[in-house]
Amino acid sequence: MVAVTVRDIPDDVRDELAARAARAGKSLQEYLRGLLVDAADKPTVDEVLARARARVTATGARIDAVYFCPHKTEDACECRKPNPGLLERAAREHALDLTASWVVGDRYADLEMGHVAGSRGILVMTGYGRGEYELHHSKWRRQPDALATNLTEAVRRILHD
Ligand SMILES: [Zn+2]
Repeated sequence: MVAVTVRDIPDDVRDELAARAARAGKSLQEYLRGLLVDAADKPTVDEVLARARARVTATGARIDAVYFCPHKTEDACECRKPNPGLLERAAREHALDLTASWVVGDRYADLEMGHVAGSRGILVMTGYGRGEYELHHSKWRRQPDALATNLTEAVRRILHD
């Protein structure tokens, strides 16, 4: 059971939440309870990263660093894909030559970010990859340098380059 109080919520936030609750056909209490239960069920970023790191490490590979953009699209930051801010930061911190690097991703924005930075890109067919490719690739300004069924195949492709 989750107890929810609405006492300390600023009026404008309360109005917005009440509007969302009304659109969802719920009382404000029910709506807030739902948000809290959803949040409690979701793994934290740290938990997701720890799992990813464990899976990668188990194969004998190594993760030197993890970067993510904490902003929203409207923040117009340099680190949100397809902007190359995160790649440039990684290049500075780990002495990487981005023109000799590959970006592997399941979104076109991943590859676009790599292309902007001078890197080559591999689209994997896992996650969003297959759908992205099948639905959108004819509209892409630049095609992936390679396609791979999964991360393992992408790694093989890079190692045999
Ligand atoms: Zn950002």
